Amino acid sequence: MPPYALPIWEEPREKSSDARARGVRGGREGPERFYRTGPGPPAPMSALLEVKDVVTAYGKIEALKGVSLQVEQGSITCLLGPNGAGKTTLMMTTAGILRPRSGSIRFAGKEIAGAAPHRIVELGAALVPENRLVFPSMTVLENLQAGAYQRNDRGGIDEDIERLFERFPRLKERAAQHGGTLSGGEQQMLSVARALMSRPKLMLMDEPSLGLAPLVVEEIFRIIAQLHKDGTTIFLVEQNAHMALTVAHHFYLIEQGKVTFSGDPGSLAEDEVIRRAYLGSAKA
Ligand code: ATP
Repeated sequence: MPPYALPIWEEPREKSSDARARGVRGGREGPERFYRTGPGPPAPMSALLEVKDVVTAYGKIEALKGVSLQVEQGSITCLLGPNGAGKTTLMMTTAGILRPRSGSIRFAGKEIAGAAPHRIVELGAALVPENRLVFPSMTVLENLQAGAYQRNDRGGIDEDIERLFERFPRLKERAAQHGGTLSGGEQQMLSVARALMSRPKLMLMDEPSLGLAPLVVEEIFRIIAQLHKDGTTIFLVEQNAHMALTVAHHFYLIEQGKVTFSGDPGSLAEDEVIRRAYLGSAKA
């Protein structure tokens, strides 16, 4: 992708026969259709994000107890784990919202552990936070403009908004509506679109499917697959392990602040991944 080309996501749904011709698993229905679809970007070559021995604490409580993992350039890497495992803490630490007590976080070859959030956005990592967190009393348009706060290329910003509106017609229809009046799925789209306004190399997505209806979840995963196809590296936190495994190239399991397993889909039986993602390995 050229350095300042906004990714294009969402494309017309293809016929199942076309999908089969391309070797995509599954038919029109079911999550299988997201499964690492299409030619996508070139094979992963190097780590875009390297987290090493990161400890993050809330007061005396260590939520991350020495987490190490890598997100390869061009991959969709998923972080799975039960409630309270430390997934959101890792996303917030990577995005600079929480400062780690120790450890290293390298993004695109630069140390970012403890850097300010705006600096991390400038370097090319954008957070799509848990629960969307759109600005409820700002319009859709203003939310998008806010996503470009670190840019000063007025013309480019306007062009990107136009392209986003083409890709998300529902956001265009609601451009003048306050963010807080949108449905959950629309807010999630807005949250993704707002993050894209910074033209990120890496999207940190924290539970984008949380609280959404199954059809909307499918739409969100279609958007994730398309974002990846257009060249964005994705680090995805999900509780919905089944859906996550339909798009992931690589996944990590985190339990009680520690990475307990890392593998490619298929390296651990899906049932086992899902069980551990929801319950942790200690609770059979
Ligand atoms: P969930 O899936 O429920 O969002 P998670 O894997 O994202 O869980 P975190 O939210 O990162 O987990 O929480 C990790 C640990 O840190 C938990 O024990 C949680 O109770 C604790 N924790 C999270 N936020 C705070 C906070 N603001 N103050 C104190 N402890 C916190």
